[in-house]
Amino acid sequence: MAQNSRGSQSHRPSRGNNNRGRNNSRKRRNNAGSRNDQKTAQQPRKPALPEVHAVTYSDGITVGELAKKINKTASDVIKVLFMEGKMVTINSPLDDDMVDIVCLAYDIEPTKVQPREEDSLEDEEPDDPSTLQPRPPIVTIMGHVDHGKTTLLDTIRSTKVASGEAGGITQAIGAYQVAVNGHKITFLDTPGHEAFTAMRARGAKVTDIAVIVVAADDGVMPQTEEAIDHAKAANVPIIVAVNKMDKPEANPDRVMSEMADHGVMPEEWGGDTIFVRTSAKKGTGINDLLETILTVADVQELKANPNRLAQGTVIEAKLDKGRGPVATLLVQNGTLHYGDPVVVGSCLGKVRRMTEEDGHELKKAGPSSPVEVIGLNDVPEAGDMFRAYEDEKEARAVADRRKRRKIEQARRKTSAMSLEDLSKEIEAGEIKEVPVIIKADVQGSAEAVKSALEKLYVKGVKINVIHSTAGAISESDIMLADASKAMIIGFNVRPDANIRKKAEEAGVEIRLHNIIYKVTEEMENAMKGMLEPVYTEVILGQAEIRQIYKISKVGTVGGCMVTDGKLVSHCKVRLIREGIVVYDGVLGSLKRFKDDAREVLSGFECGITIENYNDLKVGDIVEAYGEQEVKEES
Ligand code: GDP
Repeated sequence: MAQNSRGSQSHRPSRGNNNRGRNNSRKRRNNAGSRNDQKTAQQPRKPALPEVHAVTYSDGITVGELAKKINKTASDVIKVLFMEGKMVTINSPLDDDMVDIVCLAYDIEPTKVQPREEDSLEDEEPDDPSTLQPRPPIVTIMGHVDHGKTTLLDTIRSTKVASGEAGGITQAIGAYQVAVNGHKITFLDTPGHEAFTAMRARGAKVTDIAVIVVAADDGVMPQTEEAIDHAKAANVPIIVAVNKMDKPEANPDRVMSEMADHGVMPEEWGGDTIFVRTSAKKGTGINDLLETILTVADVQELKANPNRLAQGTVIEAKLDKGRGPVATLLVQNGTLHYGDPVVVGSCLGKVRRMTEEDGHELKKAGPSSPVEVIGLNDVPEAGDMFRAYEDEKEARAVADRRKRRKIEQARRKTSAMSLEDLSKEIEAGEIKEVPVIIKADVQGSAEAVKSALEKLYVKGVKINVIHSTAGAISESDIMLADASKAMIIGFNVRPDANIRKKAEEAGVEIRLHNIIYKVTEEMENAMKGMLEPVYTEVILGQAEIRQIYKISKVGTVGGCMVTDGKLVSHCKVRLIREGIVVYDGVLGSLKRFKDDAREVLSGFECGITIENYNDLKVGDIVEAYGEQEVKEES
């Protein structure tokens, strides 16, 4: 096996815009005192402030902060907003519209930027390459249900526990380390791509390598496909464990060819993915798998600086009755020491006790080590970052500010990419690739939408389909979209109320269509920065079909309960079966008892027919919708 190769650091291009600020300030100086504001200029105490023509701001900017940035007083800003009917005070946070109003009034070009978080627990400066040392890889196991993820994790753990204390009582803490040929590997003990992507959605990048387990007697299944897409979206190298090789019906070649069909090409076939045959149950192939992990890790040249304050991510956290808040921290850089003051998410603490999985107490933990830590003042969340500080006072100040900010942020919604944002950002030249997830009623249409979208190329912007399958939009899709700043395109599928809510909470945009050219047209317009939705759909209500009556001459009548909103006579309807649109048409008749009804409200029963469609089934959802003209906003 290859030894650690040279410690070369990849050279990132320097930003090269160091003198931009200087040019700007020169420009500003030239403009000073020009045009209006003469009054201010005459005041001896306050020299005229230079006029500002452009301003950058981020979410949550307050009246006072904006005023300062644009060289106005807070009362100037308050006045402008007041004239537009908006009452604010110096400390009020401003939304985008309000910033626009103020900037328009002063002829300033506003640009929204992602906040550069103060008190970030992430590494702000890369370590000097000379301080870096190899660190163990961190591995997540993914794959379809029942393909053997848990068994594999258990087998690895029991055969290779790093501390070598076989038979020691291990307590699952969310991650563990094993030693192979003197090298360590860290495994995250929550298998599955959902946990992986949930972490990523929170901004945590923990995994270095994904092992995708595929049962050799079952082959590639839906969650295998998801795992592939989730690992690829995160740009994490994949190793395939072809598991259950002890079974007589095991067919590893089939696994290889199916994985190859999904873009995971085996090394033997000229690709770059290593396939290892295992039996998690019998313990065969495990060494091979572990050695492969080390080989892949070697290529990645994973490094960290052990001689600095620790920084990393929360893997798990809980409130323990006797011990108080307990968190498993994965040290990603630096070394965590007993007694270190730490900020974890927005919790404050001091490492009072630090243990490994087997309960063995540690005084320090280096890069890639998972440790259970006691001594926090509150329970953080999995995916939160942590950082150790030299000084307790500093840690406390950071934790306080983070807590305050968290409360503020909870009030505001962050959002992933919406089509309108996209349109604006492309216009501004800020985007080169648009990530999308496609969910469709059948695989054929998913493929068709995918290839239609991939052909679009406008102004150097390309669509990148990160996941596309048949099936209803799921929570895992929302998480993937959130983590990858993608939008979801639903083709002939309808998200249920729960999914809609989740998407809204995560700020993930879902666009629903049933005609391919509409999908491409909309995207193309957005990419050209010309998105002008003229009509938007409004959902009037939903009803559930509870009974079916076949009536001669009339056809199939659905006995419904309106569960949300209302049904309106002759409105447009979609018939949804298990999240998939099976028919899109018009309501034929709408009756309350024997009488025609103009509308039937939520909580009432009714009988319906759908024009030209008779295949109604109990359990189907009838979604009534209409279209509404969108007033153009400037
Ligand atoms: P998970 O859902 O992916 O975590 O799968 P599990 O680890 O729970 O395994 C599902 C079932 O497959 C269990 O009954 C395991 O005993 C069995 N299993 C796992 N690995 C193997 C294997 O290598 N060979 C055989 N024959 N069975 C296995």
